[in-house]
Amino acid sequence: MPISVICDNNSCRKSLKIKDEFAGKIVECPRCGGNIRVPDYHLQQQFLEAEENIASRVVEERLGAVLALKKLGDPFGLPLIYDRVADPAPVVADEALLALLEGKEAARPFLARFFQEEHDAVRRLMKVADKRRSAEALDFICTLVEENKLSEQYVSEMVPLFARIQNRRALPTLEAIRRRYPNLEQLVQAAIGRLEHPESGVATLYKGVRPLEKLGKLGCLPVLLALLAGGVALLVR
Ligand SMILES: [Zn+2]
Repeated sequence: MPISVICDNNSCRKSLKIKDEFAGKIVECPRCGGNIRVPDYHLQQQFLEAEENIASRVVEERLGAVLALKKLGDPFGLPLIYDRVADPAPVVADEALLALLEGKEAARPFLARFFQEEHDAVRRLMKVADKRRSAEALDFICTLVEENKLSEQYVSEMVPLFARIQNRRALPTLEAIRRRYPNLEQLVQAAIGRLEHPESGVATLYKGVRPLEKLGKLGCLPVLLALLAGGVALLVR
């Protein structure tokens, strides 16, 4: 039974059928010449058997992918995921990111796929990177944004996320975005400004307070103060 593999090289991704005598070995990709690890047939068999026990096909695919990702100590489960999970569920994306954060490098090409396909999972990944304050995850996201040709619309949605994460490590990526997408100049400039001067967040807050000043100029501020004083007086009683 031939083994299905997909070239690890993100710009190639050639799909191949390989004789099972090469299981667990490294072969050369006929298209790009890169090295391809051939999955171990027995491990694939384990995944297939695990999946056969699950009734729903959708659940089967997603669970199969999560199972493969959990086993990422060896990277052989990944080609199976590429083949089987046509529409990766967010749970699979999360699992892949967690695997990467645990140092399982084999999760990298899998996650890269979400970026290439401009999948909604990217927003989730940004959130996880933010929540965990994970420099590794942020570096990973930056690399992918710089390496992939993403649509302007998609990148414009990502720029504010970089600003929100408030990590200066994203600055070179924002500069790269600025060079590559001239139309996003203003948006990127604002994000860079926020990263370079986090205190500008205070200025924004202050702007929000301005209407109160205007009230003051109109003579309303004394009234407000009087009301406030009245409230305090009531509380003191
Ligand atoms: Zn290749």
